[in-house]
Amino acid sequence: MTSAASGCAECGREPARAPRQMPHGNVCFKCLRRVHYHPAKCHACGQTRPLGYRDSAGEPVCARCAGHPSVFACAECGSEAHPYGASRCARCFLKQRLADTLRDPATGQVRAELAPLFDAMVASHRPQNALTWLTRPPGHGVALLGEMARGEAAISHSTFEALPSDKTRNYLRDLLVSCGVLPVYQPQIARAEAWLEQIAAARPDHHKAVVTRFGRWAEFRRLRANASRGPLSNATVNAARARVNAAVKLMDWAEQLGKAVTQLTQTDLERYLNEHPGRRWAVYPFVAWLADTRANPRLSLRPREPPQPQVTIPDEERWRAVETLLRDDTVKLYARVAGLFAILFAQPLCGIVAMTASQVAAAPGGEVLVRFGATAIEMPPPIDRLVTEHAAARGHASYNAQDNGWLFPGGVPGRPMATENIRRELAERGIGCHEHRKTALFALAGAIPSPVLADLIGIAPKTAVKWAALASRDWAAYIAERADPAL
Ligand SMILES: [Zn+2]
Ligand SMILES: [Zn+2]
Ligand SMILES: [Zn+2]
Repeated sequence: MTSAASGCAECGREPARAPRQMPHGNVCFKCLRRVHYHPAKCHACGQTRPLGYRDSAGEPVCARCAGHPSVFACAECGSEAHPYGASRCARCFLKQRLADTLRDPATGQVRAELAPLFDAMVASHRPQNALTWLTRPPGHGVALLGEMARGEAAISHSTFEALPSDKTRNYLRDLLVSCGVLPVYQPQIARAEAWLEQIAAARPDHHKAVVTRFGRWAEFRRLRANASRGPLSNATVNAARARVNAAVKLMDWAEQLGKAVTQLTQTDLERYLNEHPGRRWAVYPFVAWLADTRANPRLSLRPREPPQPQVTIPDEERWRAVETLLRDDTVKLYARVAGLFAILFAQPLCGIVAMTASQVAAAPGGEVLVRFGATAIEMPPPIDRLVTEHAAARGHASYNAQDNGWLFPGGVPGRPMATENIRRELAERGIGCHEHRKTALFALAGAIPSPVLADLIGIAPKTAVKWAALASRDWAAYIAERADPAL
């Protein structure tokens, strides 16, 4: 049965090292690795597994369907998922590595306070990521974790606050918070507050107090309120910082007049805005706050419309992005799905990553429904297929017993994917995701003649008809909902 001494049964090449004997012939190491790292849906059982075996018709199937013990199984836990070393999976490697790092010398066991971290990391969606973090050479965060396990550093926020913040320490801090070892804090707000302190420290006393009050009580309080409702986007945090910066610029200008900002007159303010017309919009919240808090009731400023974004993407370009996301298999699946949600349905990325798997449901007729807000939208083909595949791959269906419920799980256990992850992947294809876009492209699908739509995004004419029908059917309720600013 084995084709002795000839090439690999998969690729036909002469293997560089001893091939593995598989039931359908010798298979080279490279091919085995490829199959292991790229599990696919087995046509016999429907599960996503490495298809290194053949059925009686010669079609690729999984080991179980072929009736063989799997060569891809981890020697320790038997899982075929998360290939890593020669014989053990990434999860089993991670478990051992973590046990070593977290060992409390007093007991020889994982330090009790850190047990939730151990469990969360071992259960993480992609143990490879945690392993990469643990094995990163200089690893301040990893070194610190070891110190905490050995009792050399306190397991507390103050330990982090006393150290310079860096990426791997921030990761560790987020991780400890996400698994409940440390109480919740809001890292973006904590960083913004540290920044505010620096800004204030560089100003004279009379301005120090004003900028601290404005930053902490007006701007960052709004951030805290937003954060309690869901993940904060970087854009929101940056906008708050920009308003503090605008306040500081006005203070520094007042300083040149030999005045405090609380002593400025309306005439001074108008002179400032004549000198710096571009700052009007950014400084408005500060001026309004000065007046509202009676810190300087002499000032008033009429708000103006925010400047329109300079670059507007014409719809044709957005449709081209849709076409790319529908067809280009080289874009990561999560980014295709998230990008389509963003462009077609006008969902902000920070809302997309906060979605849970329960927002995707199959209707009795097999239609795929996705719930944004209160309305469930039927996904048109082939988006329905992409969403289903993504939802299945997310938990690696048969692979991953742990499921934390996020539709877009992140590298940090228990947390959703970072929006930057998606944004970067899309930006590589020249696709920008403009947050807060109110017009959902999908709403237009019904207004474009079907043949044109088919041509525009490269779908079959029949599919285009379906798009148009769905767009006109579900859309009224959805638009009404989005028009309500409370949502
Ligand atoms: Zn081969
Ligand atoms: Zn199978
Ligand atoms: Zn294993």
